[in-house]
Amino acid sequence: MVMAQKSYWQNYINGRWADGGDQGRIPIENPATGKTFCEVAEATVGDVDLAVAAAKCCHVARAVIKIPPAQRARMMAQVADYLRKHLAAIADIVVLDTGKRIMDAKGEVEMAARYFEYYGGAADKLEGVSIPLGDGFMNYTVHSPFGVSAQIVPWNYPLVIAARSVAAAFATGNTSVVKSPELAPLSVYAIVEACAHAEFPPGAINVLCGYGHTAGAALVRHQGVNQLVFTGSVQTGQAILRSAAELVVPCVMELGGKSAGVVFADANLDDVVDSARNGIFRHAGQVCSAMSRLVVHKSRYQETVDAIVKMAEHLSIGPGRDDHDITPVMSAGQLDRIEGYCLGAVQQGAIAATGGRRLASLDGHFMPPTVFAGVKPHMTIANEEVFGPVLSVLTFSDPEEAIALANGTEYGLAAGVFSRDINRSHWAAQRLEAGQVYINQWHVGGVETPFGGMKKSGFGREKGQEALLNYVQTKSVTLRLA
Ligand code: NAD
Repeated sequence: MVMAQKSYWQNYINGRWADGGDQGRIPIENPATGKTFCEVAEATVGDVDLAVAAAKCCHVARAVIKIPPAQRARMMAQVADYLRKHLAAIADIVVLDTGKRIMDAKGEVEMAARYFEYYGGAADKLEGVSIPLGDGFMNYTVHSPFGVSAQIVPWNYPLVIAARSVAAAFATGNTSVVKSPELAPLSVYAIVEACAHAEFPPGAINVLCGYGHTAGAALVRHQGVNQLVFTGSVQTGQAILRSAAELVVPCVMELGGKSAGVVFADANLDDVVDSARNGIFRHAGQVCSAMSRLVVHKSRYQETVDAIVKMAEHLSIGPGRDDHDITPVMSAGQLDRIEGYCLGAVQQGAIAATGGRRLASLDGHFMPPTVFAGVKPHMTIANEEVFGPVLSVLTFSDPEEAIALANGTEYGLAAGVFSRDINRSHWAAQRLEAGQVYINQWHVGGVETPFGGMKKSGFGREKGQEALLNYVQTKSVTLRLA
């Protein structure tokens, strides 16, 4: 089957498409119009049981483990080829589902393909070690899969986030149960189709769409789950960690952010403006590692605000399918939330240099690019994740103050430095409490670079070779030689 636009999508359990246990359906809305355009089967608690049982059965039968790693790598290359072959069709679905611009949707499909290629290439290279114990003894270590990996996916980049977990799990010999996001589940089915095409064994990948409080909650407290990967908000992450404590299973937590770029007096302003375009206005700012704050040296403050406002006011606004710069936010609820933060910022004394109110004249859920000047560290807009196209600009006088401001929230996902001075840049990179630090750019990095948070942005890493270690447990084998 080739990825096609359909009016109804089912769950995928044990190698078969299936309705939800109660025949329930979840309506899916196009963020650019606010209109429902299809439905997906709603997974029940019973469906979660079936999916975990299928994944467990596949693991216990060693159906993935006994595929030689080099063969697993070839199957994963076929998944990548499939995704690339159908890139245009899948990207159209990503746009309908998430609202992002077509150019970014194509980039997301390509990146999903890269995950299968990259982790496929690592499947036969995850080597153990031999530890010297002296004459008469021998020791070696092996990396064993956990078994059933449960993966909970958010709505902003569902395809690429599901791809990175499914690919790492399969490369290491695990089986996956993916809970896709109820607001934007469709693109995850592209992975199912690609894995079916590559003849993954039944149960190796199972995909359920369901609500967080029912299907999601049932999955994360299921006794059959051996490892959890969660990408989403801090609040949901905390609830999942409580379930994981009961199960005693390891977790990867990829949570939110309130990331700051520090603009030193010698910064190249073009780099800052480009980074704002890419870092906070792309996908309407619905990016966990968005550059949602700028901390600017007082000598460059006004020109920085002016240059970003000028750029923002030239951005085109409209549906992702027409490749506009500013695309819709995910839902009516998300738009209310973003606008609520903006109104609160004004009440607390921040100045909306541009934007700040929804674009009620357009169908769909549109928020204009928004820049707040005069933001003070105590304000809500300087501390909480807005998850929209909203930039807060703060000012500093000396470098220590800049670092303290950048580190001054409970988050630690990303941070940036803008300076022409290499020593100052690396000094700041050392001091910033963030899982990734960008210098004179924002968001450059690929499947190869480890990604994750510090502080309440989470722990564990996805992407890069390091991520594979989250999907295996080390077994040490020692023998006495006869
Ligand atoms: P969310 O936490 O509301 O939902 C994420 C997923 O969790 C969804 O699939 C949802 O159905 C599920 N869920 C909700 N309640 C659950 C429960 N009790 N048990 C199990 N599952 C449950 O987040 P969201 O609104 O979908 O996504 C936005 C958030 O995700 C932002 O905070 C963003 O920063 C974060 N995010 C982080 C990364 C990263 O890599 N660090 C990437 C993307 C998004």
